[in-house]
Amino acid sequence: VSHNSIEDVAGQIMKLVVAQDVYETMVAAAQKAAPLEACGLLGGKGQLATEFYELENVDASAEHYSMRPEEQFAAVKDMRAKEARLQAIWHSHPATPARMSEEDLRLAYTPGTVYAILSLADPEKPDLRGFIINNGQSEEVEMTLQ
Ligand SMILES: [Zn+2]
Repeated sequence: VSHNSIEDVAGQIMKLVVAQDVYETMVAAAQKAAPLEACGLLGGKGQLATEFYELENVDASAEHYSMRPEEQFAAVKDMRAKEARLQAIWHSHPATPARMSEEDLRLAYTPGTVYAILSLADPEKPDLRGFIINNGQSEEVEMTLQ
């Protein structure tokens, strides 16, 4: 089991607007999974992420995650049924900042997809950030809530 690529990624997203209820659901999922990492997918139309999917972190780890390919494909199929598309792969950092770890970079196989990280390092202020990977380097993308 490893991070795998989902091969229907269209254009590169440089900004993502996350619906408030999606954000709140993600924070709740991350808090529930802590001290382990939670993970999943976000989908939507254009720049707006409206579809939230929590997938099982098969690694059951506090420092890394992986998702079953069949669960990812089922989520993407569900997005398509809602005329949405895959926008981001998210995971939580229960105790570290919202930055791509070396492990995250090494396992970021899906070009053009936003890697969203929700940090619970400050329990009072969850921090959601997004990154695009180009040639093994991460670049932060703008993420806002709506
Ligand atoms: Zn990570």
